[in-house]
Amino acid sequence: MLTLTNISARYGKIEAVRDVTLAAPASGVVALIGANGAGKSTTLRTIAGLHPAGGGTIVFDGQDITRTAPHRVVRMGLALVPEGRMVVAPLTVTENLRLSGFARRGRDEELLTWVYELFPRLKERRTQRAGSLSGGEQQMLAVGRALMTNPKMLLLDEPSMGLSPRMAEVVLDAVATIAGSGIGTLLVEQNAQAALDIAGHAYVLRRGEVVLSGPAREIMDTDEVRSAYLG
Ligand code: ATP
Repeated sequence: MLTLTNISARYGKIEAVRDVTLAAPASGVVALIGANGAGKSTTLRTIAGLHPAGGGTIVFDGQDITRTAPHRVVRMGLALVPEGRMVVAPLTVTENLRLSGFARRGRDEELLTWVYELFPRLKERRTQRAGSLSGGEQQMLAVGRALMTNPKMLLLDEPSMGLSPRMAEVVLDAVATIAGSGIGTLLVEQNAQAALDIAGHAYVLRRGEVVLSGPAREIMDTDEVRSAYLG
């Protein structure tokens, strides 16, 4: 469903992503893990059209999206949840969700119902201003906003960042449910253990390059991942 072939991306002279080739299917979680600065966020931003690819090709749902504008990429069904939980602080939870919906009106209502089923906590707080939610609740809302675009695939940038272990688990459980319901998910995490627990397949990035890839279970057992990321 999503394939990157020899993708590179740079910031001036810094080559942040080098020759990255990876694939994510139409359903299930693919984890992209690696240390700080390995190029994970840049990879996601490049897929979403927010950063230009220096070389290579990105194909989504059979179409070349390598040079497609971000808003068109979203319309095609690929939604990015950026690092840092972008919510509109002064608006309520429901207003934030409605703002992101652009399907037909009936479909938006269905999506809203589904988001509230996935995250009962958000439903309880639907009239609360987003700015006064906890970090975990804001992360749920950020994921919910992406779901309101009716995506075929989600790109998630470190959804567990800054959350308590308990809250990280709630959020990643929901990610697993979403991915199991036929929305393929490319999950970037520094929390390698948590990501590998819900992923089918994984890629390890080091200094912009894919240095390991395979079934998540096998990646978890490699010395490289054990010593570097799992502690
Ligand atoms: P983190 O987990 O810390 O977010 P990451 O794996 O997502 O790390 P990136 O954010 O993609 O890594 O960064 C990859 C490299 O590109 C790093 O060396 C980083 O310093 C550099 N970089 C990222 N953004 C910029 C920028 N706007 N200008 C210059 N260099 C950048």
